[in-house]
Amino acid sequence: MRYLYAVLLIVVPLSGQAELRVFSCEPEWAALAEEIGGDLVDAYSATTALQDPHYIQARPSLIAKVRRANLVVCSGAQLEIGWLPALLQKANNRNVRPGSRGFMEASSFVLRIDVTGNVDRAQGDIHPLGNPHVQTDPHNVAAIADALAERMAELDSENASVYESRHQDFAARWQTAISDWETRATPLRGMRAITHHKSWVYLERWLGIEEVENLEAVPGLPPSATHLSKLTREFADGGADVIIRSPYQDEKPSKWLEERTGITAVVLPLSVGGTDGATDLFGLFDEIVNRLLGAAQ
Ligand SMILES: [Zn+2]
Repeated sequence: MRYLYAVLLIVVPLSGQAELRVFSCEPEWAALAEEIGGDLVDAYSATTALQDPHYIQARPSLIAKVRRANLVVCSGAQLEIGWLPALLQKANNRNVRPGSRGFMEASSFVLRIDVTGNVDRAQGDIHPLGNPHVQTDPHNVAAIADALAERMAELDSENASVYESRHQDFAARWQTAISDWETRATPLRGMRAITHHKSWVYLERWLGIEEVENLEAVPGLPPSATHLSKLTREFADGGADVIIRSPYQDEKPSKWLEERTGITAVVLPLSVGGTDGATDLFGLFDEIVNRLLGAAQ
């Protein structure tokens, strides 16, 4: 009975309406806003983990969502350069304009890897402002959670104490989870990885994995037959332990290389919802670590 009462308290919101409408470019930031805001937020993600966040259409339903948003959270560092500027312009919501308090570039709260400053896009999708795929290191997620909680409390100041206490609770559970992942991932140290796209540089730095090659010869362009043949020769006698791709990437290049070299190909979720077990941020890293450990055996 007491249990039932507790459950009712959790599922029945005190007020009917969420206080903050969060529009996120990627599922991980919507999930993080929900961790911090609970029922106070209505979080929506423009992309799912089964879509490539570099390329989507600025469709009318997304424009309507941005128009009503109190806060827009995106990875940034030009990850969404192909669609977010158009979306913001068409939505014409001054509260979420870049530079305003209602716009948050998640990757600006961490130290970005591979900042080249080179804006020549002839070499492909090179991410001159640094690698934007920052969510693959849970320490980055912790830093972004701090900034997001602060921003949410500022935008919905009446509920500031709720955001603060929920954030503290999340941060404590997150630190415990990080220690657990780091302990379990010890055997992955020194693992040599071939990745489809440069999506995993933060994960690799975190766990001590060495990236030896990419399936994409030019970042952002599909792996070419010439490049794959070259990799087959290069890794015919070892030199790599795993081939990593995300669920939205074509499986053929990974499989092709796996068949010819015997190197295990594995799918890692790049965000919440990418695989069945990645139901939330905790599940996301459980899945990543488990799948890599499975491939290492
Ligand atoms: Zn990228």
